[in-house]
Amino acid sequence: MREFLVHCPKCKGPAQVTTDLSYDTSNDQLVCQNCNHIKKADELIRYNAIIKRACDNCGNAINANVPNNKEKVKLFKVSCPHCGQVRTYKPINQEYRLYYKNEGIGDPVFNLPLWFQVDIRGNVFWAYNRVHLNEIRSYVAAKLRERQATTHTTMVEKLPNFIKLAKNRAIIISAIDRLMKK
Ligand SMILES: [Zn+2]
Ligand SMILES: [Zn+2]
Repeated sequence: MREFLVHCPKCKGPAQVTTDLSYDTSNDQLVCQNCNHIKKADELIRYNAIIKRACDNCGNAINANVPNNKEKVKLFKVSCPHCGQVRTYKPINQEYRLYYKNEGIGDPVFNLPLWFQVDIRGNVFWAYNRVHLNEIRSYVAAKLRERQATTHTTMVEKLPNFIKLAKNRAIIISAIDRLMKK
């Protein structure tokens, strides 16, 4: 899946997350049609600048780090905790990525809450986007008609068990229909 409908972090309206599903995340982004908020995935990259070496004056260990830098840190001034000598070193930049805090099911790029998400009898039912939601609906509806679903994808085959259970089908269909109108 390359497209995810999520709650916009700014206006809470529906926003589209798109990803190339690649190690190169430079095109991955969120676009909100409601408030025009745009967020690039790479805006959430941070660097932890680390100095780990022996002091060139007293020989004792220096361990220092400055987290949460938006750019790589080229030079880093450290005073030795043992002798007080101040030196400028070249740090190692450890890259990491910030995610939004989200209690529910989130998208894989930002971890923003999926738009199509609802509790069904204590289970979280969710879909990535409208196409996915439609796919799940036709799968469950076909099962409900006791006919063999002919065109379900591997995505649908990987659905959690509570969706596949016969006793839940009617309630799932009505939950999906409510979500469709959201
Ligand atoms: Zn928005
Ligand atoms: Zn020192």
